[in-house]
Amino acid sequence: MTEDLHEHYRLLLGLVPPWAVVSVDLNVAAKRVDINVEWPANHQVECPVCQKNCFIKDHREERKWRHLDTMQFQTIIKSRVPRADCSEHGAKTVNVPWAGPNSRFTLLFERLAVDVMIAAKSIKEAARLLGLSWDQVHHIQERAVERGLARREMDKVKRVGIDEKSFLKGHKYASLMVDIDGERVLDVVQERTLEAANQLWQKFPEEVRGGIDAVAMDMWDAFITSAKTHVPQADIVHDKFHISKYLNEAVDKVRRAEHKTFMKKGDETLKGAKYLFLKSPENMKDDEKGRFKALRMDILKTGRAWSIKETFSEFWLYSYKASAEKFFQRWYWWATHSRLKPMIDVAKLIKRHLDNILTYLKHQITNAMMEGFNSKIQSIKANARGYRNFRNYRVAILFNCGKLALYP
Ligand SMILES: [Zn+2]
Repeated sequence: MTEDLHEHYRLLLGLVPPWAVVSVDLNVAAKRVDINVEWPANHQVECPVCQKNCFIKDHREERKWRHLDTMQFQTIIKSRVPRADCSEHGAKTVNVPWAGPNSRFTLLFERLAVDVMIAAKSIKEAARLLGLSWDQVHHIQERAVERGLARREMDKVKRVGIDEKSFLKGHKYASLMVDIDGERVLDVVQERTLEAANQLWQKFPEEVRGGIDAVAMDMWDAFITSAKTHVPQADIVHDKFHISKYLNEAVDKVRRAEHKTFMKKGDETLKGAKYLFLKSPENMKDDEKGRFKALRMDILKTGRAWSIKETFSEFWLYSYKASAEKFFQRWYWWATHSRLKPMIDVAKLIKRHLDNILTYLKHQITNAMMEGFNSKIQSIKANARGYRNFRNYRVAILFNCGKLALYP
């Protein structure tokens, strides 16, 4: 009878002989099952380094592994693991089939924990569901990411995006690299400096960097310089989204100044109009369209700034470089003769970087995908407790946005 029970547990754990269940202690009051597992003393073991069969040197002290619960009973595997006496490698603790090296959990339990973490969206919640501490769950997450990074394939990475993002209430910055076609975060480092960008590139082996065709980024010297050094063959593409952002900011500067002048005369024409000028007419609601039409755009400075911004969007529609350049020259003349300083500044900024903006026509890539990751990362932050530590934050980002193979 007991023999049958032991055999039953051996099969449940997926143990292959000569690993055997030698006893099962059921504690009903504590709702806990302890399963004692042994490797027979007279049986040779495999050296974990060279896989050679060796005699047993001795046994480690008893260790415990948390396994999947059995009928709401916490299930613990206990064993004194033998050490191989390898002539070449010395005394080495043998690998156990139910758990990874240095883990306190069985493989099946870690697999469940990964699923729970994905579903729970926060370590705190996963810890509650699994009956573990925050640190324990975090370590399982860390191991899952390590496994995923070791298995990750990078040979198809051709087009990447690099961008900065603020982390922890905007006081600190991080630089993020994404695989645009693979729609995944490749890595993240602290700060947004040249040094940080260099670090980011150096995370990838030379042959991966050598395969990259294009990098989408903001018009940022640190990122530009770093890309020129580490991926000299790749085109730099200053993307649409950042340029639209600069144009919108310029329009807003014009609006703010004009609004201030109006308010001095008691004129409320531009009051609360900020969002109107950030939108394109096709995205406006009916009442917004009505208000926008009533604005006498032709005599407002903000109206002129807005037209300059809106007209620039045609640039992205060109297929031929020469036509786009011609368009740009006309637009540039108009913007720089607008007598609106913010528009002149942004036009000059774009002109300085025009070569790396024209590359968009060839690659058509943007960092738009970053926005999706941003909201995901935002929710990681919102749930964060232990993410004051950047390392933990990186692990959580790669776990949630890295498309890694996380299971043991
Ligand atoms: Zn060996």
